[in-house]
Amino acid sequence: MGDSPDNSGPPPWDEEEQEAAPSAAELEAAGQSAMFGDAPATPAEPVEPAPAATPAPPAANQPYRVLARKYRPQTFSELIGQEPMVRTLANAIKRDRLAHAFLMTGVRGVGKTSTARLIAKALNCIGPDGQGGPTIDPCGQCEPCTAIAEGRHIDVIEMDAASHTGVDDVREIIEAVRYAAVSARYKIYIIDEVHMLSRNAFNALLKTLEEPPAHVKFLFATTEVEKLPVTVLSRTQRFDLRRIPAELLQSHFAWVCEQEQVEAEPEALHMVAAAAEGSVRDGLSILDQAIAHADLDTDGKVTAERVRDMLGLADKGARRRLFAHLLEGDAKALLASIADQYALGVEPLALMRGLMDFTHRITLAQVSGGEPDAPTPEESAELAEWAGRMKPAQLHRLWQLLLKGHDETRQAPDQLVAAQMALLRTLHAADMPDPGGLVKKLEELAAKGAAMANSPAHAPATAGGDASTAQAQSHTPAPDWAALIDQVDHAGQPLAASIMKMQLRVVELAPGLLRYARASQFRDDVGPQLRDALMAATGERWQLEEVAEGGAPTLVEAQEANQQAAHDQMLEHPLVKATFEAFPDAEFDEETQAAAGAGRKWG
Ligand SMILES: [Zn+2]
Repeated sequence: MGDSPDNSGPPPWDEEEQEAAPSAAELEAAGQSAMFGDAPATPAEPVEPAPAATPAPPAANQPYRVLARKYRPQTFSELIGQEPMVRTLANAIKRDRLAHAFLMTGVRGVGKTSTARLIAKALNCIGPDGQGGPTIDPCGQCEPCTAIAEGRHIDVIEMDAASHTGVDDVREIIEAVRYAAVSARYKIYIIDEVHMLSRNAFNALLKTLEEPPAHVKFLFATTEVEKLPVTVLSRTQRFDLRRIPAELLQSHFAWVCEQEQVEAEPEALHMVAAAAEGSVRDGLSILDQAIAHADLDTDGKVTAERVRDMLGLADKGARRRLFAHLLEGDAKALLASIADQYALGVEPLALMRGLMDFTHRITLAQVSGGEPDAPTPEESAELAEWAGRMKPAQLHRLWQLLLKGHDETRQAPDQLVAAQMALLRTLHAADMPDPGGLVKKLEELAAKGAAMANSPAHAPATAGGDASTAQAQSHTPAPDWAALIDQVDHAGQPLAASIMKMQLRVVELAPGLLRYARASQFRDDVGPQLRDALMAATGERWQLEEVAEGGAPTLVEAQEANQQAAHDQMLEHPLVKATFEAFPDAEFDEETQAAAGAGRKWG
């Protein structure tokens, strides 16, 4: 945007003022196009082109205004989602404690520049009767109000710092600041993207900020507040404009559609609101496109299907089906679903987020107990059904697993693979019974383990404990050894039977002959006692021989080894593995195992 050599008017950054007196209608059609780098509404106008977030401009003969411009808030009550800021500002105006400089921060499209303009109106409004003072509720009818709304107020000077970064641009301001406002109460400088100013420009501006004339106000807007010098920050009253919640955006867009007499499905607006990510302007631009798309069809209705296509979004129904496959344990269908979504352009991370979102909403539905809040009756019914089917603990487990999977997916070199693996793991874990059922299953498994412990064939299955035990396990207790102990026990020799069970590692067992080793902790001589007991039980004399080492594990050792084996086996069981994946900090409850195992045949 060049300066005309014959330009003797306002400073060069105020493009619109340079135009040769455009008519009010033209200005209206153009909206406030020269400001803030909005896209020109009429391509013929030599206003500054800008990053066009808005759809293609309509032909010059159509007075169509893009929604973002048409529905730019004209009063603070129309500025949605920024109530805290408006309250603060209202108080400041009421108490006449206005700062000399305001700073509006926030992501793009939350209403920073709209706010700046509203403040300009609020400060300069004179009311319909020309007698009013500064007000939080500017009338919108007086000359200052209409002129500011149309961007043609001589004392409200707007500048886009992105294109006027230099010290010379700022010098122009400083020069102009000295002169009183031409027609308004305040001379107002609105500087958008103020962080773009050069260091020298900031320094020049700072002098004015330190001692601003009473009739001057600065309204700064920025998306990157951290780039502003502290010296500037400390001289401004700062307003952080918030992202606008999706629900609020959705109802706003519904209202806009009503004004435009466009029919739109709630789910369609829900998607637009979600895609807008807190920005009214972005949302309205998407809505503009959606309406344009809808116009191509005969009915002109904005449907969820079209918006989904337009935004390249996944079908929510597909996401819900994926959720069902996940919980119903259908791994094949789950993988196919993931592949479908990926083919549709759904990023693996977005997929994980979607599932987390669904889990969260089921939980909310369950907690509230009421009708789930969903954009469509189908989704609402589905949420209600899952809320009824799942236990709270299952939902929490699912959330944990999805969150873990989400983080893994984010860090993985191949996100699709990571998402697949995470969801398969979730599938196996989600398949688990609730904790009550889990205990029951574990008990069954433990019982199975104990049954194996009773079977001598399984005795040495697993090496456990120290080296000597491992060596001891190199032999299997003779099948008739247990029978012999039983015989001794029944012959009224329980103490001897107990010694045989606990202490004797059988090396050789034949009729009338017993060679054995003992674990090193047993030192007392049990020979005479055993000889008497065997005599009593079998009616014959036994030759007993104790050797230093070797032999099969004692019956008690075998039992312990088998319990360990059962334990290990249980840890390997998919059910238990799933449990540990779901609860990485879980501990295996030996008490439950021991009690349930109850291999107390000898006890
Ligand atoms: Zn007014």
